[in-house]
Amino acid sequence: KVALYIVPTPIGNLGDISERALDILRQVSLIACEDTRHSGKLLSHFGIETRKVALHDHNERDKAQWIAQKLAAGESVALISDAGTPLISDPGYHLVSIVRQEGFEVIPLPGPCAAITALSASGLPSDRFSFEGFLPAKEKGRIDKLSALKQDPRTLIFYESPHRIVHSLESIVSVLGEDRVIAMAREITKTFETFLTGTAAEVLDKVKSDPNQQRGEMVLMCHGYRSMQEDELPIAAIETLTLLCTELP
Ligand code: SAM
Repeated sequence: KVALYIVPTPIGNLGDISERALDILRQVSLIACEDTRHSGKLLSHFGIETRKVALHDHNERDKAQWIAQKLAAGESVALISDAGTPLISDPGYHLVSIVRQEGFEVIPLPGPCAAITALSASGLPSDRFSFEGFLPAKEKGRIDKLSALKQDPRTLIFYESPHRIVHSLESIVSVLGEDRVIAMAREITKTFETFLTGTAAEVLDKVKSDPNQQRGEMVLMCHGYRSMQEDELPIAAIETLTLLCTELP
């Protein structure tokens, strides 16, 4: 079927590629890759020789028009990124939107995504969550972003890079508070897969004191904001309220 196929690829463990993903990658005439050299290794591991073309943040709109022409000529195209699901903190949004506007079919395949995989094993509430991508690199931007999310009741999910993890955790402690429960998932599906959970202060402490925890790829997740329930009021407040109730007319 002539379409643009959105194909997730493994986030570490090559065994996580699906049979359907391999079939599609073999059958299409063209694979649009974020980085052709990076994806070349993955594709050659699976013996896939389909033609590759680069599609990254800087050429996406131009390439999208060119890909739409290929679809018009009856050629199917697959989109992959370096790892995980395309469009999730990766290129592809403009391509999909242009291809849809031009009236072609876009068919997504389900597959690896670091955010969802991390959340599923984090122990944090998964009924409602907000994926926030990467926190800004500069401190002011990070503080502003976290301040805007401070009272959000949903679990917050952030992507993070090794050289910024300590700064981001420090901002989380200072804005969301040292007692906010958080989880850090590192190197998911790889040899050194680790989950750290605890209060923001505890996780910051563990990561700061162990340089190994600052290596590799990581997802940060924060418990959503919890407004104080009546039964969570401090004892002193309950005593004062009880006294007031008996004293007031
Ligand atoms: N599109 C990808 C996806 O579906 O997950 C994400 C691409 S984004 C550019 C890369 C970020 O994803 C990393 O900085 C890290 O936050 C997260 N990530 C990717 N692979 C991971 C892994 N194996 N373990 C933990 N986090 C990972």
